Amino acid sequence: MNIESLVKPSVLAQPVYEPGKPIEYVARELGLDPAGIIKLASNENPNGPSPRALEAARRALEAGQLYPDGGCFALRQKLAEVHGLGADQFIVGNGSNEIIELLGHAFLAPGDEVVMGNPAFIVYKLVTLLFGARAVEVPLVNHRHDLAALARAITPRTKLVFVASPNNPTGTANTADELLAFARGLPEHVIGVFDEAYLEYQENPPDLRPLVREGRKVIGLRTFSKIHGLASLRVGYGYAGIGLAAVLNRVRQPFNVNAIGQAAALAALDDRAFTEKCARENRAGLVQLETGLRGLGLEVVPSVANFILVKVGEGMRLFDALQRRGVIVRPVASYGMPEWLRITVGTKAQNERLLEELTTLLR
Ligand SMILES: *Cc1c(COP(=O)(O)O)cnc(C)c1O
Repeated sequence: MNIESLVKPSVLAQPVYEPGKPIEYVARELGLDPAGIIKLASNENPNGPSPRALEAARRALEAGQLYPDGGCFALRQKLAEVHGLGADQFIVGNGSNEIIELLGHAFLAPGDEVVMGNPAFIVYKLVTLLFGARAVEVPLVNHRHDLAALARAITPRTKLVFVASPNNPTGTANTADELLAFARGLPEHVIGVFDEAYLEYQENPPDLRPLVREGRKVIGLRTFSKIHGLASLRVGYGYAGIGLAAVLNRVRQPFNVNAIGQAAALAALDDRAFTEKCARENRAGLVQLETGLRGLGLEVVPSVANFILVKVGEGMRLFDALQRRGVIVRPVASYGMPEWLRITVGTKAQNERLLEELTTLLR
């Protein structure tokens, strides 16, 4: 009897997530010097971690023999202050990816439907399929979530609807009015999941917290992986109504978030100077990339996140050629966009290097 015959059907139907390759791996594979490679593939922060977070993480490492605070007490207390909500309205996860999975644990079973945009963050679909539910994908219009079409796709079987704003991989956002009206129009049996992983890069981000205060069935997802520069430590959180946060806290592992990550996240929330600098430099980087890419005659999707989509024709070929020159970007064929590449905004020098290599390749 082979192993496949024992596995649950939902697992066999599961596509495999392909993360960007680490720099050392690419260097070994292609015989390149790792020091000369730049990675603009996974929307990581080119400024590294917040310095205050780094300091707190180092200190926390000293007590590495102890189990972490399983309830993330101090972090949830701080988040409550930052957001003007109660500490019991937060769920902290091993990255916000874990919270997406917890939503599946708590709410999804075979026969259920989950409504999401296409293209949108692939993890929504992976988690949906993992729990045997059906992914109902609604095409974006002009690379933006079509909230009216998402609402029309809801049926009595719908449990969750995912909206990322800004969206990944498009970098586009919906307005606060659009998002609030959409959330307020959701039927009673549907939970609205608003992924705000890139929200801090927006100049005037929408505030969805009133929805939670109104007692609606919504959850906002945030992460320390992007603007706080802590992707490796895996900390994300959701803010939601008390009932929803309590349900998600019930289905998580007792020690799902490590103490080093908790300490770093706590300190990162106080490092406003760092996040403001990152947001400012990112906006300049977006202009630099958009101008440079358009200057090469390429179509781009105007972005408010820390990455940008560019139409290069043969995405896979260009990805490969750039990688051979030591610049790692993200092909998005798996998102149904084989002609496009997703490029993370790097430092000014990294963006320049990307544009130079691309110029050479396209000449
Ligand atoms: C990067 C990203 C996240 C964050 O994931 P973590 O697990 O917190 O690292 C969440 N949603 C989207 C759309 C993202 O692109």
